[in-house]
Amino acid sequence: NCQTVEDVFQAVKDRQISFIQIWFTDILGVLKSFAIRPSELEEAMTEGMGFDGSSIEGFSRIEESDMIAKPDPATFQILPWRPDDQPVARMFCDILLPDGSPYPGDPRYVLKRMLAKAAEKGYTYYTGPELEYFYFANNENPIIIDKAGYFDTTPLDRGNDYRRETIFALEKMGIRVEYSHHEVADSQHEIDLRYDEGLRMADKTMTYRLAVKEIARQHGVYATFMPKPIFGINGSGMHTHQSLFTGSKNAFYDPKDQYHLSALAKNYIAGILAHAREITAICNQWVNSYKRLVPGYEAPVYIAWARRNRSALVRVPMYKPGKEAATRIEYRAPDPACNPYLAFAVMLAAGLKGVEKNYPLADPVETDIYHMTEAQRQDLGIRSLPGSLYEAIEEVEKSEVVRDALGDHIFNKFLENKKIEWDRYRMHVTNYEIERYLPIL
Ligand code: GLU
Ligand code: MG
Ligand code: MG
Repeated sequence: NCQTVEDVFQAVKDRQISFIQIWFTDILGVLKSFAIRPSELEEAMTEGMGFDGSSIEGFSRIEESDMIAKPDPATFQILPWRPDDQPVARMFCDILLPDGSPYPGDPRYVLKRMLAKAAEKGYTYYTGPELEYFYFANNENPIIIDKAGYFDTTPLDRGNDYRRETIFALEKMGIRVEYSHHEVADSQHEIDLRYDEGLRMADKTMTYRLAVKEIARQHGVYATFMPKPIFGINGSGMHTHQSLFTGSKNAFYDPKDQYHLSALAKNYIAGILAHAREITAICNQWVNSYKRLVPGYEAPVYIAWARRNRSALVRVPMYKPGKEAATRIEYRAPDPACNPYLAFAVMLAAGLKGVEKNYPLADPVETDIYHMTEAQRQDLGIRSLPGSLYEAIEEVEKSEVVRDALGDHIFNKFLENKKIEWDRYRMHVTNYEIERYLPIL
């Protein structure tokens, strides 16, 4: 594992690396890359490489802008799915303005800045996202490749071998895997990474998504992180486990509390719940994301917390009660098609707001909220997440917490992108309308 620029030069020489891919992420969470030859490496590591920075603006890209990509040596890894002779390596980069200052439109920078705010208060932010996904026969139709269910094994589980290979690939890249299993829906899978510090974990999340897709492609199947590819069965979530540490101490842990949660953890949960509607556009950024956030499919809809209840938005897992390192909260709204840098940044911002302002935490709701009546929910003061991308945009547009976390540049660009996305959808005539209206109108 490389740490310094010198380590990178040495590794490129020793391993006879043929290309170095420079990775970054656009506003919408799409991984972008360009490749350089080893002859350019010295310049890249010292001065950075010039490139068109407007490539990170998503649909709202207008004119070219001159930007510098500066690779982060600590992210140097060889790509296991590329040929073994003349291997290919990658590094994530930071994006700088020509004067050397950080580009405010770089999602990785946005997360770094938010992590630095937490660090000023003495906290390190750890996350453990659980990305679910489907294997399909191709990328044109959602044709399932197995009919297995939760924790099923072979021969029902046809994705077992692809998962296994994906895990080996991740481990070769220094990404530790904890669990993997068939998920509830047909052809749906999950590989869980061991929790890590926020920035490292966002990088790992980007790598995970590519690894899953590359290994699937090598086997002639298609892997997708689309939030709700099939109506009537579970969609794919990216439940995100989170905790704040002070040094090596888990600041969410209090052995004397009945939930083993510290006052800080409770303020954090209260912050996340209070601002949940505002951060939803970031954690669930596509029109399709809102087809997942409906009652009955283990995805959250209602804003409440619980110990076990899978219908709640925040869950406090207690598999190993009293184990300090394992104490964390699980935010269940995000889906795996989000931008992890931005999603981590806004979840942390919401949680820290609760800490800063000492928000009180309501009682947990342990009964199934899906089955409550509207009136029962109202009595308990349980609100819902936004029901569509449109509603989520309206909510985020007035959010100071999100604007502060993202900075004006990304905040405005993100909204611009999402309005384009919503408009395209709004004008589209869907199959639903043809089937529903044509025969009767
Ligand atoms: N697939 C469910 C979701 O959309 C989650 C299932 C689980 O609890 O792992 O969030
Ligand atoms: Mg799951
Ligand atoms: Mg979970």
